[in-house]
Amino acid sequence: MEDIDVPGGADPIANESVATAGEVGDTSGASVSREVYSHSRLSSFENCPRKFQYRYLWKVPAESESIEGFVGKRVHEVLEKLHRTADAGRIPTLPKVLWRFQQMFDDAYDATNVRIVREGTPLSFYRELGEHCIANYYHDHYPFDRDQTLALEERVTLDLDGSGRYRLQGFIDRIARAPDGAIEIQDYKTSARVPSQRQLDEDRQLALYQMGIGARFGEGKPVRLVWHFLRKGRTLVSTRTPKQLEALRTKTRTLIDRIREERVFAPKTSALCGWCEYREGCPASPNRSGKVEPYSRPPAGGKRPAPDGTHKDQLAFTFGG
Ligand code: SF4
Repeated sequence: MEDIDVPGGADPIANESVATAGEVGDTSGASVSREVYSHSRLSSFENCPRKFQYRYLWKVPAESESIEGFVGKRVHEVLEKLHRTADAGRIPTLPKVLWRFQQMFDDAYDATNVRIVREGTPLSFYRELGEHCIANYYHDHYPFDRDQTLALEERVTLDLDGSGRYRLQGFIDRIARAPDGAIEIQDYKTSARVPSQRQLDEDRQLALYQMGIGARFGEGKPVRLVWHFLRKGRTLVSTRTPKQLEALRTKTRTLIDRIREERVFAPKTSALCGWCEYREGCPASPNRSGKVEPYSRPPAGGKRPAPDGTHKDQLAFTFGG
């Protein structure tokens, strides 16, 4: 999943692909059964309830995308292609892989939408950063026969208590069978910061994925959670006991209940505001330029009729009073 390197750690909103499906239209009981949560959605609430409100309840379109998130997405796309090609018996050379990265970068890059937060940093820096991540991974895994790919960008879903009230989903970068028969849930990170082992042992994202895959890739097989920190060329591993997974299940349900009960969605300002995709319209943001009217609550019902009479999510908010 994509990862953004921002001060203080990975930006929780980087994994937009994880959070797009499902519906968190409002917090009323009527829509509860349609809600599908994800790790990034939960993280968004934990890091700043106001941002959660903008994104998932008011459905305010993002003002921009950070360059770090943009590069992370391209790196993930290239690594997926690399594995698909290598698994088909055609191992591309590193120059070919980097060329593909450049091509995907250029095709997707939109200077009007992608924002470089660290002023004065040239675009070439981020391009080279992506190349560096890919080269590290390539050198570390060539000739890509150390394990067996079972799935790439695999969607997993999870119903925490079987009632349909606590549904989650996510996309796993890669699932592999290791030589010792263990199933590995692998995640690519492009952030500079490498968490401590202790932090990874408490990480929620991959542990939820472990619950999500259940016995799909082998009943009774040990499961390892594996993070590839591409920028540093480091791989870290963690495992969970059934008891730890059960505790996470309970904790996650409690968090979802808390989100549902939330009514204030107070802003939580931090260094992350500089990377926030709502920093221009959020009244609490220390990074407003004043060019955008502050966001305000959408009309009752959450959605405003489009000119053609339909209701569209992108119209579910207003500017100004
Ligand atoms: S700018 Fe800061 S306070 Fe406002 S929504 Fe974004 S993260 Fe929250």
